[in-house]
Amino acid sequence: MEADERNNFVETITDKSVDFRRWYTDVIIAAQLADYSPIKGCMVIRPYGYALWENMKTLLDAKIKDTGHENAYFPLFVPESLLAKEAEHIEGFAPEVAWVTHAGKEKLEERLAIRPTSEAIIGSMYAKWIDSWRDLPVLINQWANVVRWEKVTRPFLRTTEFLWQEGHTVHRTEEDAEEETLKMLHVYKDFIEKDLAIPVYIGRKTEREKFAGALKTYSLEALMSDGKALQAGTSHNLGQHFAKVFDITFQDMDGERKFAWQTSWGVSTRLIGALIMVHGDDSGLILPPRIAPIQTVVVPILGKKESEEAVEEKVREIEKMLTGVCRLKVDRRREHRVGWKFSEWELRGVPLRIEIGPKDVQKNQVVLVRRDTHAKEFIPIDKLKNKIIEVLDDIQKSLFEKAKSFRNENTRETSSFEELTSLIENKQGFVKAFWCGDQDCEVKIKEKTMATIRCIPFNEKKGRCILCGKTGSMVYFAKAY
Ligand code: ZN
Repeated sequence: MEADERNNFVETITDKSVDFRRWYTDVIIAAQLADYSPIKGCMVIRPYGYALWENMKTLLDAKIKDTGHENAYFPLFVPESLLAKEAEHIEGFAPEVAWVTHAGKEKLEERLAIRPTSEAIIGSMYAKWIDSWRDLPVLINQWANVVRWEKVTRPFLRTTEFLWQEGHTVHRTEEDAEEETLKMLHVYKDFIEKDLAIPVYIGRKTEREKFAGALKTYSLEALMSDGKALQAGTSHNLGQHFAKVFDITFQDMDGERKFAWQTSWGVSTRLIGALIMVHGDDSGLILPPRIAPIQTVVVPILGKKESEEAVEEKVREIEKMLTGVCRLKVDRRREHRVGWKFSEWELRGVPLRIEIGPKDVQKNQVVLVRRDTHAKEFIPIDKLKNKIIEVLDDIQKSLFEKAKSFRNENTRETSSFEELTSLIENKQGFVKAFWCGDQDCEVKIKEKTMATIRCIPFNEKKGRCILCGKTGSMVYFAKAY
């Protein structure tokens, strides 16, 4: 393709306000985060998207290890007999499980599920490894792929195969398990808010929405810029449910044999979908600096032949100065015009751009352009290093503040069911209201409004159920991905 033909390629992205769904997939494809694959429902995460995931993974992995966990790896396959041991669990996942039935031409004696999650396989190993209270707690995390055969898929948000981490821990007491469940919920909150700049509400899931087989599920709920909620992560207190099924017992301090208490928790590549939908605009992606594969791009404006060398010399100086300061890329491609490059890096969400041309070289300065606000500033080269650190930090903070203001403006409270219906239909966002705790009311509200209870926040006041009037808890309603 000729450079000029593609000069306005950003215009190929549908406007957010025109068609949000189209905008979302257009951005993913054009920014080269991912692409469709020959397998229906499966995507290819391209190098730029994978670099983003790796940055996210590195930051979260450090937090997981800082809280005492170790990484391990368990098999991809789960024998049917093992998965079927826990009725509620297999029922919850059955429609989405992919099965391996043959090895070559030979039919397997027992079907193998491709893990939709690893409670069963990990639980069976824990039964083997745990014998005494001295073996507890077991704090293991695994970075892996899982398969859930989805009917309707969308890149990053819902794909048949996806990448995630799943923590699986075992504890001596119920209190320890609950403490772990909440600890990891807060580790996720810290990661999602500080590193991804996405504000989240945290709370408990209803019985209807909790993880199959769990005692309690807690979740983190984010608001996308189209007004829909997205579950950004979950942390489950599994109680003794799986311990009883997989026979995970230990001899306690009092000499008695007891069932262990477990937790599991996970976040996935779905978070990339959240990043796109929370921060992106009509020009494409906007990536928070902490996880951006490229934090600063330098675009030299070479000008006339005789000034080329002077510009290139300054660029090399800047390159040297900023190495180790930020993740830097110098765009020296000659096949594209400068304007085209600007658009491309904007589309790919690079937080900062440095422009430098012959006039700037004479003045010993550069032009610094922010992706989030498009603000331009002339910066003397000797001040550049500190300025970059400062501005990247400011972008990180302002992206979070902007997303938080949007979320707060789109969180409304009501005590009237009519108003709830109308808010969900016309305004979207989160609606806070009281709910009695009955599944009947929950289902009826969902049928009438399409909204689900996203979570029951902690320490909120009690009030009268928006549908039946009985006393209940404050909850967040929203339409969700
Ligand atoms: Zn009710």
